[in-house]
Amino acid sequence: MTATTTTTAIQHYINGQVSSGTGDAQNVFNPATGEVTGQVALAGEREVNAAVEAAQAAFPAWADTPPIRRARVMFKFLELLNANKDALAEAITKEHGKVFTDAQGEVARGIDVVEFACGIPQLMKGDYTEQVSTGIDNWTVRQPLGVVAGITPFNFPVMVPMWMFPVAIATGNTFILKPSPLDPSASLMIADLLKRAGLPDGVFNVVQGGKDAVELLLDHPEVKALSFVGSTPIANLIYERGARHGKRVQALGGAKNHMVVMPDAHLDKAVDALVGAAYGSAGERCMAISVAVLVGDVADKVVPALAERAKSLKVKNGMQPDAEMGPIVTREAHQRITGYIDKGVAEGAELLVDGREFNAAQTGDGCDEGFWMGGTLFDRVTPDMTIYKEEIFGPVLVCVRVPDASTAIQLINDHEFGNGVSCFTESGSVAREFGRRIQVGMVGINVPIPVPMAWHGFGGWKRSLFGDTHAYGEEGVRFYTKQKSIMQRWSDSIDGGADFVMPTAK
Ligand code: NAD
Repeated sequence: MTATTTTTAIQHYINGQVSSGTGDAQNVFNPATGEVTGQVALAGEREVNAAVEAAQAAFPAWADTPPIRRARVMFKFLELLNANKDALAEAITKEHGKVFTDAQGEVARGIDVVEFACGIPQLMKGDYTEQVSTGIDNWTVRQPLGVVAGITPFNFPVMVPMWMFPVAIATGNTFILKPSPLDPSASLMIADLLKRAGLPDGVFNVVQGGKDAVELLLDHPEVKALSFVGSTPIANLIYERGARHGKRVQALGGAKNHMVVMPDAHLDKAVDALVGAAYGSAGERCMAISVAVLVGDVADKVVPALAERAKSLKVKNGMQPDAEMGPIVTREAHQRITGYIDKGVAEGAELLVDGREFNAAQTGDGCDEGFWMGGTLFDRVTPDMTIYKEEIFGPVLVCVRVPDASTAIQLINDHEFGNGVSCFTESGSVAREFGRRIQVGMVGINVPIPVPMAWHGFGGWKRSLFGDTHAYGEEGVRFYTKQKSIMQRWSDSIDGGADFVMPTAK
């Protein structure tokens, strides 16, 4: 790939128009080359108010649009997404750094949710009971909330917004997306595709920016619900501040995902799974495996194999067809991850493969100034070490040795995070017990990254999710709608006279 030399202004998208805004801007980088490729606008009060006003104005007509017609817009959007999925994946790779095929996978998992949202007429069907009392029927409907907002992290600039807006829009809400300023371009491509799909102006809006834009959305009385995905400290803040303003909030936070390898596991497959799930996307996935829990004597076989694989990872510009791992998203993230590796060494973990030693010249395609690091592997990590307790969010895998399955389960249950977990075993009873006892929201049995499909909903437990409902799936439909119960009777079944007692079924 040739490096970009011109930079692009990445703007807001309000009421069906790209809107330049009046605030400051922030540089956007290609992490593979270290070059500045664009400047993203940072929204302030003016832009956020304009987006909320546009979304508010569009809401009554969109909420009144029959669900099947809203679904038809989703079908058209789906068609356009499929036609443009590689362009989206390329935009992801150029701003995030993940390898192109991984970016294609991200787009595909986002498309799954759009397919789910195409079924909205069925999903919004209410319940009906005839004759709850003589001459009286009772039914429930689900109605949209109004203006809702989504705040998304850098690591999935297409998939995570698509966990939110397809369901929010299909259920009749209007939406404001506040993407990560690190990789904002895909948000405008999505806005364009939605417009071409026939979505009315104002139903989908984008405000670019950071903390200020988020706080304005959180405090705005017309924003009725907020979906957030990002790190735990921010998720916690968002949940508390949003709830204080009476909003619905679902705030998905960080993770420390463990993979248990039992002595009866198929070890080659377990090693493949660990390498892919720890180093894929440079470990910058909320479902990345960052802890290998090696039970009994498996460590003696698994650790040398992991070390071999970590050393030979193909770390390259994500646009190279044989790349397995790309660069780290920013220089700051690179420094943070390096700091964790330093700390692991200082706290006494055994460093087997040191990603700090990676030389950018090895990428071989003019990426010397990129934010590069190799895969790192630590062994003999203990639960009191910082590299075990905290989310590193980089290509660092730590191995913890435990004597048996119940110690493994206890270790995981004691961790503050509970996003994803995996267990590799050939034993049905171990797998069953693991699935029942583990205090984690998403569990894989011989599946390293168990991201639930679009109709099942995504969400962790403990400090990996603040709120009551998971993202997308039927929980997403519930989050973006409120239930109304209607009870009716007609005059020919109404007795005369005032009734002063609590009505009961007659
Ligand atoms: P982040 O928390 O730094 O940012 C997330 C979003 O919040 C961004 O849009 C950002 O602009 C905004 N933001 C940042 N600081 C803020 C503040 N002080 N106040 C208000 N808003 C603020 O997260 P990130 O670095 O972009 O993404 C990585 C994190 O996201 C990791 O912790 C990862 O585990 C998590 N994540 C979780 C899930 C999940 O489903 N649980 C999925 C993807 C990523």
